[in-house]
Amino acid sequence: MDQIVFSLTLTVFCAFLVYWYIRFALILPLEGRTRETERSFARFTAFSREMMDHVYVPESAEHYGDIVNYYMVKLHKAFPDSSMLVFESSEGRWKLINYLKNFKAEPKLMTSYQLDVFDKCASDGEPVRMERASLDGSSEVEALFDSFGIVSGVAVPFMHGGGQARRILLYCEPCAGRRDGAYPEEPYLRFIAAQLNAIHKTSDKLVAARKEQEQLRGELNAVLRELDMAGSRLIRGAKERKALYEVVTKVTGEETDVAKGTSAILNVVAKMVDADVVSCLRFDEGRNELVVTPGSFGIPDEERMRYSIPVDNLASASVRSFLNGKPFMSPDAQNDPEVQPQHAKLWSIRSLMIVPIALHNRTIGVLRVGSRRKDCFTQDQLEFLSIIADELAIIMEMISLYENVSATAKELAQLNKLKDEFLSTVSHELKTPLTTIKGFVSVILSGEVGPLSEQQANFLSVVDQATNRLTNLISNLLDLSRLNGKVEMEFAVISLKDLIRDSAAAMLLKAKEKGISLSFSTDEDLPPVFADVRWISQVIDNLLINAIKYSGRGARVVISGSTKGEVAVVCVEDTGPGIPPEEQKLVFDKFYRGKTNASQVPGTGLGLAISKSVVEKHGGKIWLESRAGSGSRFLFALPVAKQKRGAVPADAAGR
Ligand code: ADP
Repeated sequence: MDQIVFSLTLTVFCAFLVYWYIRFALILPLEGRTRETERSFARFTAFSREMMDHVYVPESAEHYGDIVNYYMVKLHKAFPDSSMLVFESSEGRWKLINYLKNFKAEPKLMTSYQLDVFDKCASDGEPVRMERASLDGSSEVEALFDSFGIVSGVAVPFMHGGGQARRILLYCEPCAGRRDGAYPEEPYLRFIAAQLNAIHKTSDKLVAARKEQEQLRGELNAVLRELDMAGSRLIRGAKERKALYEVVTKVTGEETDVAKGTSAILNVVAKMVDADVVSCLRFDEGRNELVVTPGSFGIPDEERMRYSIPVDNLASASVRSFLNGKPFMSPDAQNDPEVQPQHAKLWSIRSLMIVPIALHNRTIGVLRVGSRRKDCFTQDQLEFLSIIADELAIIMEMISLYENVSATAKELAQLNKLKDEFLSTVSHELKTPLTTIKGFVSVILSGEVGPLSEQQANFLSVVDQATNRLTNLISNLLDLSRLNGKVEMEFAVISLKDLIRDSAAAMLLKAKEKGISLSFSTDEDLPPVFADVRWISQVIDNLLINAIKYSGRGARVVISGSTKGEVAVVCVEDTGPGIPPEEQKLVFDKFYRGKTNASQVPGTGLGLAISKSVVEKHGGKIWLESRAGSGSRFLFALPVAKQKRGAVPADAAGR
């Protein structure tokens, strides 16, 4: 029994020993390591969280340096014995750009090193750990380690660009060969490198985007400025065109005397540039002076007389502008050594612009524009004024030409009237004695007052024919003078058909005498017209007489009447010599006689002029169609009477 109890007790004791051995030798260290790992994990988590919280994307290279700095400080806080150096790749070497904490010797910023290990590390993109003790003793890294007293370091590449890291953080461990080659900073260093890379990449993109944005903004601003300028140019152009349009319309409208025309232009100028005085000084050759033209704006006409400048007065800005053809501007004419102040003072002018007025490369005067306010005109306004001045010159010329032409026209009209009155008086005075002469010649020729010798009879026949021609001329002249004056027409609804037939019948004998065949034809339903029988008969007679008179023996003359819509057309057609094109528009002029037949065929050159006047007084139209050598067609159209066709009322109404 005792044996059994002893064995059991021994077994329990042994088990107890084994348990405590296992617990002390194996489990406790394992637990310690687990707790240590948990603690370091917790530290790393806190570190990385803090880093993440403070991360931001920098907009410039300096800001990126600040972030690197911040990361170094934090890393140092996590590993207080550490120190760090930051290198940047520059032209194949590594330049020291930053460092943290004390080294054996004070690092010198911007010193560059040839470090092959760094080159490789930068292109591999992986951290490289180096122990001073295991370096071969020849590289520059070794010299670096020695000069700064580094025993062990980790080169961490970051800021990747183009497959290559551009910076390296050399993390210097406090002691070499720590913990069998393991180093707790590794996750920190990798984390920092990853963060800095990501930040750099984003920052790069941001900077590029910003740059692009800036560039776009610059371009946009340039476009906006351009648009703005184009807009103001357009507005200015539109304003100038409007002003010019106003100038031109005002002048070409009713303003046809120089004073009114100039005044209209100067008013527009004053409105455009907001001026108080606008005057135009014209060069007067006789006086050798610049003289203010009538129609100035802001200067009463009576004051105008006090405003003239001798052209040899070179102290005057107006004279200089006139002589050198250049515009001039002064912000304060009363206190400007370039300006003679008396005229400026006379009209209280401060701001002043002067532009030459030139026509066909010759300066004919100047335009002076003044304002009572100081410094209120701009270069643009001066340019605008130069444009107006050119127009002004043309318009002034145009006005004076128009004036000359209308004065000549008036004179001519006056002369024409005098001539008509003279002809009318003379005709009347001639008609009575001529009738007496014709009467007595007829009586003598008839032999009632005694027999005549053959010679006497011949002579008297010549006198008779001449008297006939003279009578004809006088009655034509009288007709013309009546038509020019206020002739009373006796309008009535008349049948053109009858008129054509009667005229043709009356001319038959004449035609026969000349061996000409005369015929007439009218539309069956040729409508009546509203006309004066006597005058329209005279028109038809004139046309028939001409056709017979100018056509040679054997010719044919046809008179016809037809309807063309709202008008009735009478046509007298012959197969005579025709009228050359250059004479066609002249034959309706008073006293015009065809060149070829004037000497051979008697006439006054008044028949067609009278016919034209008569037809037009009836609201009709007369014209001719002819080709030299192939006959002529004289046509006239009269409006159809607004009555039922064919129903010609017996009581013809007057108009
Ligand atoms: P007149 O017959 O007295 O010269 P008119 O005024 O009747 O004056 O005619 C003007 C001119 O027109 C004539 O001189 C003639 O040259 C030309 N003329 C008119 N009718 C004809 C015609 N039927 N054929 C050729 N010329 C014509």
